[in-house]
Amino acid sequence: MTFLLVSGLLFLIGAIFGSFLNVIIYRTVNDESWVWGRSKCENCLKQIAWYDNIPVISFLILRARCRWCRKPISFTHPVLEFLTGALFVWWYWAGSFFFQLTQRPFQTLQPLFWLTVGVILLAIFFADLLYYQIPDILSGSLLIITIAYRVALTLFGVMQLRDLGFAVMAVVLGVLFFGSLFLITKGKGMGLGDVKIAAPLALLVGWPGFLVTVFGAFVMGAVVALSLVVAKRRKFGQVVPFGPFLIVGTFVALLWGDQLVAWYLTLI
Ligand SMILES: [Zn+2]
Repeated sequence: MTFLLVSGLLFLIGAIFGSFLNVIIYRTVNDESWVWGRSKCENCLKQIAWYDNIPVISFLILRARCRWCRKPISFTHPVLEFLTGALFVWWYWAGSFFFQLTQRPFQTLQPLFWLTVGVILLAIFFADLLYYQIPDILSGSLLIITIAYRVALTLFGVMQLRDLGFAVMAVVLGVLFFGSLFLITKGKGMGLGDVKIAAPLALLVGWPGFLVTVFGAFVMGAVVALSLVVAKRRKFGQVVPFGPFLIVGTFVALLWGDQLVAWYLTLI
Protein backbone atom coordinates (compact mmCIF):
# COMPACT_ATOMS: atom_id res chain seq x y z
CA MET A 1 0.00 0.00 0.00
CA THR A 2 2.72 2.44 1.01
CA PHE A 3 4.63 1.23 -2.01
CA LEU A 4 1.78 2.21 -4.35
CA LEU A 5 1.25 5.53 -2.61
CA VAL A 6 4.92 6.44 -2.87
CA SER A 7 4.95 5.35 -6.52
CA GLY A 8 1.94 7.52 -7.31
CA LEU A 9 3.39 10.49 -5.48
CA LEU A 10 6.74 10.11 -7.22
CA PHE A 11 5.01 9.92 -10.60
CA LEU A 12 3.23 13.17 -9.82
CA ILE A 13 6.43 14.92 -8.71
CA GLY A 14 8.20 13.59 -11.78
CA ALA A 15 5.43 14.80 -14.10
CA ILE A 16 5.65 18.28 -12.55
CA PHE A 17 9.41 18.21 -13.13
CA GLY A 18 8.74 17.19 -16.73
CA SER A 19 6.42 20.15 -17.08
CA PHE A 20 9.23 22.43 -15.85
CA LEU A 21 11.61 20.82 -18.33
CA ASN A 22 9.23 21.73 -21.16
CA VAL A 23 9.30 25.34 -20.00
CA ILE A 24 13.08 25.42 -19.49
CA ILE A 25 13.74 23.93 -22.93
CA TYR A 26 11.27 26.24 -24.67
CA ARG A 27 12.50 29.38 -22.91
CA THR A 28 16.18 28.54 -23.38
CA VAL A 29 15.92 28.00 -27.12
CA ASN A 30 13.79 31.15 -27.43
CA ASP A 31 16.11 33.25 -25.27
CA GLU A 32 13.44 34.02 -22.67
CA SER A 33 13.83 34.40 -18.94
CA TRP A 34 13.39 31.19 -17.02
CA VAL A 35 11.96 32.65 -13.92
CA TRP A 36 9.82 35.56 -14.95
CA GLY A 37 6.48 35.40 -16.62
CA ARG A 38 3.82 32.75 -16.63
CA SER A 39 3.62 30.18 -19.40
CA LYS A 40 1.94 31.40 -22.55
CA CYS A 41 0.39 29.75 -25.55
CA GLU A 42 3.10 29.64 -28.22
CA ASN A 43 0.55 30.77 -30.80
CA CYS A 44 -1.87 33.35 -29.32
CA LEU A 45 0.47 34.30 -26.44
CA LYS A 46 -2.39 34.15 -23.94
CA GLN A 47 -1.32 33.20 -20.43
CA ILE A 48 -2.01 29.61 -19.50
CA ALA A 49 -4.10 29.31 -16.33
CA TRP A 50 -2.90 26.90 -13.66
CA TYR A 51 -5.84 24.57 -14.31
CA ASP A 52 -4.81 24.31 -17.94
CA ASN A 53 -1.25 23.56 -16.92
CA ILE A 54 -1.66 20.31 -14.99
CA PRO A 55 0.80 17.74 -16.32
CA VAL A 56 -0.67 15.19 -18.74
CA ILE A 57 -4.27 15.74 -17.47
CA SER A 58 -4.79 19.24 -18.92
CA PHE A 59 -3.54 18.03 -22.26
CA LEU A 60 -6.22 15.30 -22.25
CA ILE A 61 -9.00 17.59 -21.01
CA LEU A 62 -8.18 20.28 -23.58
CA ARG A 63 -7.94 17.51 -26.16
CA ALA A 64 -4.52 18.75 -27.29
CA ARG A 65 -5.67 22.27 -28.19
CA CYS A 66 -5.20 25.75 -26.75
CA ARG A 67 -8.34 26.78 -24.84
CA TRP A 68 -8.43 30.14 -26.62
CA CYS A 69 -7.08 29.86 -30.14
CA ARG A 70 -7.62 26.09 -30.57
CA LYS A 71 -4.12 25.69 -31.99
CA PRO A 72 -2.86 22.13 -31.39
CA ILE A 73 -0.52 21.70 -28.44
CA SER A 74 2.48 19.53 -29.24
CA PHE A 75 2.04 16.00 -27.92
CA THR A 76 5.67 16.11 -26.82
CA HIS A 77 4.56 18.10 -23.75
CA PRO A 78 2.56 15.28 -22.11
CA VAL A 79 5.10 12.73 -23.40
CA LEU A 80 7.99 14.45 -21.61
CA GLU A 81 5.81 14.86 -18.50
CA PHE A 82 4.84 11.20 -18.57
CA LEU A 83 8.40 10.00 -19.19
CA THR A 84 9.80 12.10 -16.34
CA GLY A 85 7.10 10.70 -14.04
CA ALA A 86 7.93 7.18 -15.24
CA LEU A 87 11.64 7.84 -14.64
CA PHE A 88 10.93 8.78 -11.01
CA VAL A 89 8.86 5.63 -10.47
CA TRP A 90 11.41 3.40 -12.18
CA TRP A 91 14.16 4.99 -10.07
CA TYR A 92 12.19 4.05 -6.97
CA TRP A 93 11.40 0.49 -8.12
CA ALA A 94 14.77 -0.45 -9.59
CA GLY A 95 16.79 1.60 -7.10
CA SER A 96 17.53 -1.20 -4.63
CA PHE A 97 19.04 -3.12 -7.52
CA PHE A 98 21.29 -0.33 -8.78
CA PHE A 99 22.14 1.77 -5.76
CA GLN A 100 24.24 -0.45 -3.56
CA LEU A 101 26.74 1.98 -2.08
CA THR A 102 26.22 1.90 1.67
CA GLN A 103 29.10 4.20 2.52
CA ARG A 104 28.26 7.72 3.66
CA PRO A 105 27.55 10.09 1.92
CA PHE A 106 26.97 7.87 -1.11
CA GLN A 107 23.93 6.08 0.26
CA THR A 108 22.03 9.30 -0.46
CA LEU A 109 24.37 10.85 -3.03
CA GLN A 110 24.25 7.90 -5.43
CA PRO A 111 20.43 7.77 -5.90
CA LEU A 112 20.23 11.59 -6.08
CA PHE A 113 23.01 11.80 -8.64
CA TRP A 114 21.45 9.25 -10.97
CA LEU A 115 17.98 10.74 -10.74
CA THR A 116 19.40 14.16 -11.64
CA VAL A 117 21.35 12.62 -14.51
CA GLY A 118 18.20 10.89 -15.77
CA VAL A 119 16.23 14.16 -15.73
CA ILE A 120 18.98 16.07 -17.57
CA LEU A 121 19.34 13.31 -20.18
CA LEU A 122 15.59 13.38 -20.84
CA ALA A 123 15.70 17.15 -21.25
CA ILE A 124 18.64 16.95 -23.69
CA PHE A 125 16.84 14.22 -25.65
CA PHE A 126 13.74 16.40 -26.14
CA ALA A 127 15.56 19.69 -26.72
CA ASP A 128 17.61 18.20 -29.54
CA LEU A 129 14.68 16.25 -30.98
CA LEU A 130 12.32 19.26 -31.05
CA TYR A 131 14.58 22.24 -31.60
CA TYR A 132 17.83 20.73 -32.94
CA GLN A 133 19.60 22.37 -30.02
CA ILE A 134 21.23 21.21 -26.84
CA PRO A 135 21.18 24.17 -24.40
CA ASP A 136 24.59 24.80 -22.80
CA ILE A 137 22.92 24.91 -19.42
CA LEU A 138 22.00 21.24 -19.81
CA SER A 139 25.32 19.90 -21.14
CA GLY A 140 27.21 22.21 -18.75
CA SER A 141 25.38 21.14 -15.60
CA LEU A 142 25.65 17.49 -16.62
CA LEU A 143 29.41 17.91 -17.01
CA ILE A 144 29.83 19.67 -13.66
CA ILE A 145 27.83 17.20 -11.56
CA THR A 146 29.46 14.22 -13.29
CA ILE A 147 32.97 15.55 -12.63
CA ALA A 148 32.06 16.27 -9.01
CA TYR A 149 30.53 12.82 -8.52
CA ARG A 150 33.38 10.91 -10.17
CA VAL A 151 36.01 12.86 -8.21
CA ALA A 152 34.13 12.29 -4.95
CA LEU A 153 33.85 8.56 -5.64
CA THR A 154 37.59 8.39 -6.31
CA LEU A 155 38.53 10.45 -3.24
CA PHE A 156 36.43 8.17 -1.03
CA GLY A 157 38.07 5.12 -2.58
CA VAL A 158 34.82 3.81 -4.08
CA MET A 159 36.08 4.29 -7.62
CA GLN A 160 39.56 3.07 -8.58
CA LEU A 161 41.96 5.73 -9.84
CA ARG A 162 42.58 3.45 -12.81
CA ASP A 163 38.88 3.51 -13.79
CA LEU A 164 38.81 7.30 -13.48
CA GLY A 165 41.84 7.40 -15.76
CA PHE A 166 40.02 5.28 -18.33
CA ALA A 167 36.94 7.50 -18.08
CA VAL A 168 39.09 10.60 -18.70
CA MET A 169 40.59 8.84 -21.70
CA ALA A 170 37.04 8.18 -22.97
CA VAL A 171 36.33 11.92 -22.60
CA VAL A 172 39.42 12.91 -24.60
CA LEU A 173 38.73 10.36 -27.34
CA GLY A 174 35.03 11.27 -27.44
CA VAL A 175 35.67 14.99 -27.80
CA LEU A 176 38.36 14.41 -30.44
CA PHE A 177 36.09 12.01 -32.35
CA PHE A 178 32.98 14.20 -32.37
CA GLY A 179 35.05 17.35 -32.73
CA SER A 180 36.66 16.07 -35.93
CA LEU A 181 33.29 14.84 -37.27
CA PHE A 182 31.93 18.33 -36.59
CA LEU A 183 34.85 19.93 -38.46
CA ILE A 184 34.79 17.45 -41.36
CA THR A 185 31.04 17.73 -41.94
CA LYS A 186 31.18 21.51 -41.27
CA GLY A 187 28.55 21.13 -38.58
CA LYS A 188 26.00 19.47 -40.85
CA GLY A 189 26.42 15.84 -39.84
CA MET A 190 27.36 16.53 -36.27
CA GLY A 191 26.45 19.66 -34.32
CA LEU A 192 28.53 21.48 -31.76
CA GLY A 193 25.99 20.31 -29.17
CA ASP A 194 26.99 16.70 -29.88
CA VAL A 195 30.63 17.58 -29.23
CA LYS A 196 29.64 19.29 -25.98
CA ILE A 197 27.66 16.36 -24.59
CA ALA A 198 30.31 13.82 -25.63
CA ALA A 199 32.46 14.87 -22.64
CA PRO A 200 29.92 14.37 -19.82
CA LEU A 201 28.48 11.23 -21.42
CA ALA A 202 31.94 9.66 -21.74
CA LEU A 203 32.74 10.50 -18.13
CA LEU A 204 29.40 9.08 -17.08
CA VAL A 205 29.67 5.67 -18.75
CA GLY A 206 33.48 5.34 -18.68
CA TRP A 207 35.55 2.98 -20.77
CA PRO A 208 34.75 0.71 -22.63
CA GLY A 209 31.11 1.61 -21.96
CA PHE A 210 31.40 4.76 -24.08
CA LEU A 211 32.18 2.58 -27.11
CA VAL A 212 28.76 0.96 -26.59
CA THR A 213 27.18 4.44 -26.40
CA VAL A 214 28.75 5.68 -29.63
CA PHE A 215 28.38 2.45 -31.57
CA GLY A 216 24.77 2.06 -30.45
CA ALA A 217 24.01 5.68 -31.35
CA PHE A 218 25.37 5.28 -34.87
CA VAL A 219 23.50 2.02 -35.48
CA MET A 220 20.19 3.45 -34.20
CA GLY A 221 20.78 6.73 -36.05
CA ALA A 222 21.40 4.88 -39.33
CA VAL A 223 18.30 2.69 -38.89
CA VAL A 224 16.03 5.63 -38.07
CA ALA A 225 17.44 7.90 -40.80
CA LEU A 226 17.03 5.15 -43.41
CA SER A 227 13.49 4.36 -42.25
CA LEU A 228 12.58 8.05 -42.54
CA VAL A 229 14.00 8.17 -46.08
CA VAL A 230 12.14 4.98 -47.04
CA ALA A 231 8.93 6.33 -45.48
CA LYS A 232 9.58 9.55 -47.48
CA ARG A 233 9.48 11.65 -44.31
CA ARG A 234 13.01 12.92 -44.95
CA LYS A 235 15.21 13.37 -48.00
CA PHE A 236 18.58 11.68 -47.97
CA GLY A 237 21.11 13.96 -46.35
CA GLN A 238 18.50 15.93 -44.45
CA VAL A 239 19.34 16.55 -40.84
CA VAL A 240 18.27 14.11 -38.17
CA PRO A 241 19.50 15.31 -34.76
CA PHE A 242 22.12 12.98 -33.33
CA GLY A 243 21.80 13.92 -29.65
CA PRO A 244 18.74 11.71 -28.98
CA PHE A 245 20.62 8.65 -30.24
CA LEU A 246 23.59 9.47 -28.02
CA ILE A 247 21.22 9.70 -25.05
CA VAL A 248 19.55 6.36 -25.82
CA GLY A 249 23.01 4.85 -26.41
CA THR A 250 24.03 6.16 -22.99
CA PHE A 251 21.01 4.55 -21.29
CA VAL A 252 21.86 1.26 -23.06
CA ALA A 253 25.52 1.48 -22.05
CA LEU A 254 24.65 2.27 -18.43
CA LEU A 255 22.15 -0.59 -18.14
CA TRP A 256 23.75 -3.32 -20.26
CA GLY A 257 27.21 -1.98 -21.22
CA ASP A 258 29.21 -4.63 -19.38
CA GLN A 259 27.17 -7.52 -20.77
CA LEU A 260 27.35 -6.13 -24.32
CA VAL A 261 31.14 -5.71 -24.15
CA ALA A 262 31.56 -9.22 -22.69
CA TRP A 263 29.32 -10.66 -25.39
CA TYR A 264 31.25 -8.85 -28.12
CA LEU A 265 34.56 -10.14 -26.75
CA THR A 266 33.33 -13.73 -27.06
CA LEU A 267 32.75 -13.09 -30.77
CA ILE A 268 36.31 -12.10 -31.61
ZN1 LIG B 1 -3.49 29.82 -28.01
